[in-house]
Amino acid sequence: MTKSEINIGSIKIDIDETSNHVVYKISGMVDESFKQDQVPRIKAQTIVLDLEGLKNFNSCGVREWVFLIRDLEKYGQLRFKNCSIPMVDQLNMVPESAGNGIIESFYAPYACESHGESEYLITLNNDFHDIQAGIAPDVNCTTCQKPLIFDAMVDSYFLFLTAAKTKKKAS
Ligand SMILES: [Zn+2]
Repeated sequence: MTKSEINIGSIKIDIDETSNHVVYKISGMVDESFKQDQVPRIKAQTIVLDLEGLKNFNSCGVREWVFLIRDLEKYGQLRFKNCSIPMVDQLNMVPESAGNGIIESFYAPYACESHGESEYLITLNNDFHDIQAGIAPDVNCTTCQKPLIFDAMVDSYFLFLTAAKTKKKAS
C-alpha cells in the first residue's frame, strides 16, 4: 500500500493506493486555488472519493471539480463515500459533480430539541428502504436517545439520488 499527501490551494488530498483500489480523501474548500490537473491520476478498478472533510465550493471551484470528475472516470469506477453536507448541496445544484459515480454514503443534518444540531451518516445499503420511499431515516440523539428531527427539506435534500436513479435508467 502506498500513501501520499498533496496540497492544492485550499484542498488537501490523502491518497491510499493498493493494487486495484485507490482512495482519495479530499478535504478543504474547492475554490479558485484548486487546480484539477494537479490531482494525480491513478488507474484502479475502484476509485473511492472520501469527501467527509469537503467544505464549500465556489463557482470557479465547481468548474474545476466537474472537470476532475469527468477525467477521473476514465481511470476507474468512481464511488463517493462520506459526502459532507456541502457536497450534498453541491450534488443537488450540479448533478455532474458526481459524474456517473456511485454514491455510497452521505451526511444529513438532524437536530435534537435539547442538544442542537447533529449529522448522521446515511449509508445507501443500510437505509435503502427509507431513501427509496423518500423519507429520512429515523435517528435518535446519542445523548438523550430521543428521536432527532430531520433538519432540511426531505425532497430537496434527497433530490440528487433521484437524479442518479433517472440517469442510471436512461443509460
Ligand atoms: Zn438530545
